[in-house]
Amino acid sequence: MRHDDYLRPIPKTELHCHFVSTMTGARLIQLADRYGVALPTTDPDALFAYDDLADFLVAFRAATDVLRTSDDLAKVAYDGVRADVIGSGLRYREYYVNPQYFAPKGIGYRSLLDPIIDGLSAARDDLGVDFRIVVAINRQEPSAAALELVQTVLANPLDPVVGIGQDDLTPELTEDPGRFADAYALARRHGLHTTAHAGERPVDSPESVRVAMDELHVDRIDHGYRIVDDPQLTAQARDSGIHFATTPWSTTICSGWTIDPQHRIRRMIDAGLSVSFSSDDATFFRTSVGREFREALPLLGLGIEDARRIALAGIDGAFCDDDTKASLRARFTAEIMALDATIAAG
Ligand SMILES: [Zn+2]
Repeated sequence: MRHDDYLRPIPKTELHCHFVSTMTGARLIQLADRYGVALPTTDPDALFAYDDLADFLVAFRAATDVLRTSDDLAKVAYDGVRADVIGSGLRYREYYVNPQYFAPKGIGYRSLLDPIIDGLSAARDDLGVDFRIVVAINRQEPSAAALELVQTVLANPLDPVVGIGQDDLTPELTEDPGRFADAYALARRHGLHTTAHAGERPVDSPESVRVAMDELHVDRIDHGYRIVDDPQLTAQARDSGIHFATTPWSTTICSGWTIDPQHRIRRMIDAGLSVSFSSDDATFFRTSVGREFREALPLLGLGIEDARRIALAGIDGAFCDDDTKASLRARFTAEIMALDATIAAG
């Protein structure tokens, strides 16, 4: 059996997925043309080639600029699901949506969220992919704006919106999770789940992961790779069972790391941490949750057993309710058993 025959269809969650990055390159170029938004190039190969994270953020912000109407938002939402169902067995996804990118363009919270929810609900009905939304704090903005954003989320309850997370970088290009402590405290007091980007790059630190865990009291961490440089914190994370939504391919661009068996994600798994795989910014890093399993997983020196564990860990780390988790577990287990039976028969 080729690894690919197992890793492509194995059922998957994706927890760490920035909504704008589910837009295809073709759609980005088409919308940029329609609205007269300047792109550095209209060659998709060159458009998504970056030198570093700051370079990537320029392209990412241009992509938010081409989303102007409800129709644009709903179409991007629906199409993003279709691509990953066909290519990679996606069954459940959590989207990070950053309203602070859209407010200055006159697109308010509900004007942004309602069409996205419409598009994702249609995709759930047609394609069987459930979803939740995590509202992302734009780290470019001051802490007072983050607090205001959480107040907006609480004043506009929407069933699929279940948590608070993060997007972008601070103006100093740092993570600085402690800066948003008030926003996180308010979110937690009102029962929202929380996640934070921490410990992503070589310039970031295990301390940033510690702040997210001990001071923000998050339910899960996005990235978190630098944690393995602090054995005591790693042991604490293992004992608490906190989940890490990792994104292997993006580390080759944002951290300059090679995906191999010495990679920090592999070391996190070996240390017994709860780890799932996501694409982070699929279109912009020219990846997908499918590619993370098919290509990154074997490069990390991991096998079929690990793939099953990573697929199921994605359900543990999800922010949906317990009934949804139970039905996802039943579905994943049945699909994995059927896949195992096919392999055994072949
Ligand atoms: Zn991210």
